[in-house]
Amino acid sequence: MIEIKNLSKSFGQLQVLKNIDLEIKQQEVVVLIGASGSGKSTLLRCINFLEVAQGGEIKIESEVINPTKTNLNKVREKVGMVFQHFNLFPHKTVLENVIEAPIYVRGQKKEDAIVKAKALLKKVGLEDKANFFPDQLSGGQKQRVAIARALAMEPKVMLFDEPTSALDPELVGEVLQVMKDLASEGMTMVIVTHEMGFAKEVADRVVILADGYIIEEGHPSELFDNPKHERTQRFLNQIL
Ligand code: ADP
Ligand code: MG
Repeated sequence: MIEIKNLSKSFGQLQVLKNIDLEIKQQEVVVLIGASGSGKSTLLRCINFLEVAQGGEIKIESEVINPTKTNLNKVREKVGMVFQHFNLFPHKTVLENVIEAPIYVRGQKKEDAIVKAKALLKKVGLEDKANFFPDQLSGGQKQRVAIARALAMEPKVMLFDEPTSALDPELVGEVLQVMKDLASEGMTMVIVTHEMGFAKEVADRVVILADGYIIEEGHPSELFDNPKHERTQRFLNQIL
């Protein structure tokens, strides 16, 4: 689904991603972990071209994406993203948030977009909140709207950047549950999270990033119980 080869990304003098090679297979759930500042968000942002890498190559569904030639809106339709801070449109209702891109980016008919949005809101357990505004919702509800909004574009892959980090602890579970449901339906996902219980249960593969390098990857059962790299051990000791 996604093939990343030798990706490098710098901000000025600071090289944030160094020779990243990573493949994400169809229906695979990959959890990306690493210390703060290790480049996790930058890597996700490169995958949907919110950032443009200086070196290397990203293929999505076998197509090399050349940011100067490819229509990046088309790429972003395939690659949905959910952020730590939800990024909902504050002055639009829940329903309007979900139908916005399908109507204005994909040109769907409003009636069709509404039918679809209602089904997605039902899927994330928020059918009764369609006419609420974001500030009338809890953080967990906002994040579930954000997930429904991303799904409305029918992405092939979903990227999640610490989707539960801004939530009160009692609201984390409801968001993780929606993500688990998506995984079991076969959605391809790349997830940055510190929720190691979730990673153990749901991830097919865990990838550890340190200082812009992938230092280790593997199935969660091997990697958590038997990390090879000393830095992985130290990092896991800090968060487990
Ligand atoms: P993580 O998500 O793992 O915490 P990030 O990818 O956000 O890490 O950041 C990695 C490094 O890149 C950090 O040192 C951060 O300060 C730097 N960085 C991220 N985005 C920018 C930017 N837009 N401009 C300059 N530096 C940035
Ligand atoms: Mg980050």
